[in-house]
Amino acid sequence: MQTTIAPYWRNFIGGQWVDAANGGRIAVEDPATGERIAEIARGEAADVDRAVAEARRCVDSGALSAMRPSARGHLVQEVGRRLRARIDEIAPILTLESGKNLTQARTEIEGSAAYFEYYGGLAAGIEGRYIPLGDGYVDYVVPTPFGVSAQIVPWNFPLEMAARSIAPALAAGNAAVVKSPELDPLAVALLGEICAEVGLPDGAVNVVCGYGHDAGAALTAHPGVDQIVFTGSVETGRKILHAAAERIVPAVVELGGKSAGIVFPDADLDAVTESAKWGIYFNSGQVCSAMSRLLVHRSVKDEVVERIAAMTEGLSMGPGLDENFITPLISAEQLDRVEGYALSGAQQGARAVTGGRRAPGRAGHFMQPTVFTEVTPEMRIAAEEIFGPVLSIIAYDDEEQALAIANGTPFGLAAGLFTADLDRAHRVAHRLEAGQVFVNEWYAGGIETPFGGFKTSGIGREKGQEALGNYYQSKNIGIRRLN
Ligand code: NAD
Repeated sequence: MQTTIAPYWRNFIGGQWVDAANGGRIAVEDPATGERIAEIARGEAADVDRAVAEARRCVDSGALSAMRPSARGHLVQEVGRRLRARIDEIAPILTLESGKNLTQARTEIEGSAAYFEYYGGLAAGIEGRYIPLGDGYVDYVVPTPFGVSAQIVPWNFPLEMAARSIAPALAAGNAAVVKSPELDPLAVALLGEICAEVGLPDGAVNVVCGYGHDAGAALTAHPGVDQIVFTGSVETGRKILHAAAERIVPAVVELGGKSAGIVFPDADLDAVTESAKWGIYFNSGQVCSAMSRLLVHRSVKDEVVERIAAMTEGLSMGPGLDENFITPLISAEQLDRVEGYALSGAQQGARAVTGGRRAPGRAGHFMQPTVFTEVTPEMRIAAEEIFGPVLSIIAYDDEEQALAIANGTPFGLAAGLFTADLDRAHRVAHRLEAGQVFVNEWYAGGIETPFGGFKTSGIGREKGQEALGNYYQSKNIGIRRLN
């Protein structure tokens, strides 16, 4: 399939497409070929200043916060409708810049639209409360938007991660400055334009592409920012938290994971295999909550390994535009990293049942889908986040041991278990140290369900009603009546 793409993209600030202040550009490449497909203006500190100033102007004008919440919510919902209406245009752009296949790009656009529809619908439901203080007093709590929300977005689901934070921020009455990911910023740039098209005030959503170390760092340290939402690696998350601490602004950080699924002897092995397909190969494993470890009871291990290896070998590999399931990793650097992990697995004594290397003879950044067995918890492939299509299968003998291995990581983003025994499902789910637990289907949940990490996987929750609370603070007004 062929698709055309504009050769040069600008940042979207204050309702307008603008060049970078210093004229710099960032090249965007197609991960399936390694070839440049477009350039985008390279935002730096001066561009961030401009975007924050526009967002501040929007906040100070009261255009968002003074609007009746149901009307604001309607505009937010309209963004979702426009996204759906432009899905045929945006999906190939997202595929070309990120590598993911067209079906998954469409799913991402629909998921992004759903965030705007969901949070737009909740806008009018953000309510304060009355607190009785006895005769002579009137006391009430007012939910108050923070003001300017700074949002730093990763490359694995660029549009969806941006939508996940922009939608509740707007619903609660904030303006947003989004630092889009430098590797695949194009679909997110369109989101800024769509927000303006629906009638949200200029400056309500500003999108600046740039590198993390300059545009990202300038945004998180900016004195005009009132709240920060970051999604990305633990290493960068730590820097964000330092920046937030310096200025004492709240920060939500959604970070990495090393999530484990536990297969009990009574598990439905068809469900396990299907969950492995999506759990580790969806978006070629570039998913923070990927099922990168599978802990399998020794009595069913051989059968599970055989089934997952057969499923893996049946997956098509190639460009996302041709609807392959295994698509390229985002960059040459990411491919080197993931292959390096796979090589370390073999060196440390694990056995690759299938895969184990980059795909030979391809121009793009293709990694073979890889299944390791004979893995022990200390190996790097079992302990560190790989962020690629590499599954580590670890055998265990009893429930306590499985729980100890599953919880034996600094991460705590997701976990799962496969069993027909409901008592065991509840018991084990309660003991797993993770922000979400999937039973019998990896990724069971939706935009309505809170998502975030225990331990080093993050602070705060995105998605669901819980996330709205990130975007406003409570103001208590206590009145002593004079007569
Ligand atoms: P990353 O931390 O390298 O980059 C994420 C974003 O932060 C990018 O936009 C980048 O430009 C920016 N950034 C980098 N340095 C910065 C700095 N000093 N100041 C401000 N911004 C900076 O992560 P990545 O490689 O883009 O994404 C992969 C990581 O993200 C994985 O660890 C993955 O698990 C995690 N992730 C988590 C979630 C979640 O919801 N928990 C979702 C997606 C990805």
